[in-house]
Amino acid sequence: MTNTESAAGAAKKAPAPKAPAKKVAPAVAVDPAVIEVRNPGTGEVVGSVPTETADAVAAKVRELRLYQPEWEAIGPDGRKEWLLKLQDWLVDNTEHLADVLQSETSKPRVDALIDPAFSVDLTGYYARRAAKFLADEHPSPHSPLARVKKLTTVYKPYPVVGVITPWNFPLAMPVIDVIPALAAGAAVLLKPSEVTPLSALELARGWAEIGAPPVFAVVTGAGATGAAVVENADYIQFTGSTATGRKIAAACVERLIPYSLELGGKDPAIVLADADLDRAAHGIAFGGMFNAGQVCISVERVYVEAPVYDAFVAKLTAAVKDLRQGIDGRESKHDVGALANENQVLIVQRHVDEAVAAGAKVLTGGKRTGVGTFFEPTVLVDVDHTMSCIGEETFGPTLPVVKVADEAEAVRLANDSVYGLSASVWTGDKDRGERIARQLNAGAVNINDVFSNLFNFALPMGGWGQSGVGARWGGASGVRKYCRQKAITRPILPTQQKELIWFPYQMPKLLVALGAMRAAGARGLRRVDIPALLKLKGDTK
Ligand code: ADP
Repeated sequence: MTNTESAAGAAKKAPAPKAPAKKVAPAVAVDPAVIEVRNPGTGEVVGSVPTETADAVAAKVRELRLYQPEWEAIGPDGRKEWLLKLQDWLVDNTEHLADVLQSETSKPRVDALIDPAFSVDLTGYYARRAAKFLADEHPSPHSPLARVKKLTTVYKPYPVVGVITPWNFPLAMPVIDVIPALAAGAAVLLKPSEVTPLSALELARGWAEIGAPPVFAVVTGAGATGAAVVENADYIQFTGSTATGRKIAAACVERLIPYSLELGGKDPAIVLADADLDRAAHGIAFGGMFNAGQVCISVERVYVEAPVYDAFVAKLTAAVKDLRQGIDGRESKHDVGALANENQVLIVQRHVDEAVAAGAKVLTGGKRTGVGTFFEPTVLVDVDHTMSCIGEETFGPTLPVVKVADEAEAVRLANDSVYGLSASVWTGDKDRGERIARQLNAGAVNINDVFSNLFNFALPMGGWGQSGVGARWGGASGVRKYCRQKAITRPILPTQQKELIWFPYQMPKLLVALGAMRAAGARGLRRVDIPALLKLKGDTK
């Protein structure tokens, strides 16, 4: 989702030194005991949080384990009461939550208000539906022979789910995974980003304020604290960079615990000649610049059919030029805010500079501005797939636009990426849009829109390729993923002293049992095992 790793991307490309480097002791990254939280737009320190040690994390997990069985035992309806109380708290505290969120992100007011509203919507969905989603299932048996049993699938939560989140949506990111996990009956330990931990702490304050059972806790700190969560929890839900996701996956494999990862993206938008160009330009400007481009499903590449390329680029550039950038208070005056930190500015600037050095043109924007971490909303043209602005996740306010000959070239280039989070197709023909959507290597495709999959919890949200493993939401899957499945069989008919295939083996009985299995599963005359029947006849003579 975010990409700290690529700030140093240019350095990584430097040729390896010929002489063996002098051995130096590896630098051990020591997290500071206290983390200062800054407003990236002003540089002002707005709070501080402790770095919690591995021991402290282990202790919190032990405590969560103590309370989880009771949380599970009250069932989805009991949990619904608490989740809806939290929902009320989110509604009642919206303005305050937006203040806190703005203080640690420097987002425009409207962007800051999105997190609480989105959190309210999602909390209601999983609070109300969890009972249905978690109900025992009685699948119909696969064969007539299996009808002698009543079959039941039971969903039993993992005791402690660890949720590790990034900085781009400091309240919504925790909520989108914490709530389904709590609704499933798990206890949850959240490790928010060290860049924006204050909103997550507000969420924990809300949980305590409503008097809910102590099955949700937050630990603060950086990578080492996150690693301790991975070492102690029973399931890990992670959103962040592909590099960190890979480390977490390796740690989970070592512990043999399940995980779900939502990672980086490089979402393409395809604009076809029959599209409503005004809608496409405004939609793509929003999709690329919302939250200053710091969204996992931001539009990061645009492919436009040649006949409408010039007209589309003119409209897109005008829409991007119109954006107002700056620091909002409670009043809404701006569309685009600052980037989360200096590292993000370096990545965006590098992508723009490398593109320009290789022949790209900046139609608007292209440089940092103001005192904080602001980067101008930028449109780039004459770009191609050799450039970092097309190949690497930027996670900033840039829209590189590529002219393509036709639909086939657009699809081919859109699929030419290691990532596959989401995509959009802009066309006047919805059937054509859907046909193309099915050809794109992405976990989601929006036709004539951006982000709309994100507002539909009934759909799964997951990345393909290096964009992730697993998915969140998808209706029932959104809570069932936090559960272990248990299969229970129970006899329907009165049972005999022995089943046909139990010891001691007796060929005639076995042949009847296995023959019945074959008869039920195979097709045509093959159902009947003639040689076996003949043998059976011989045996029973
Ligand atoms: P970014 O810093 O760009 O948000 P990261 O993927 O590095 O992206 O961080 C996302 C989250 O993962 C943050 O909460 C961070 O503290 C946490 N994190 C970083 N390294 C590790 C790690 N090795 N194990 C667990 N969590 C980690």
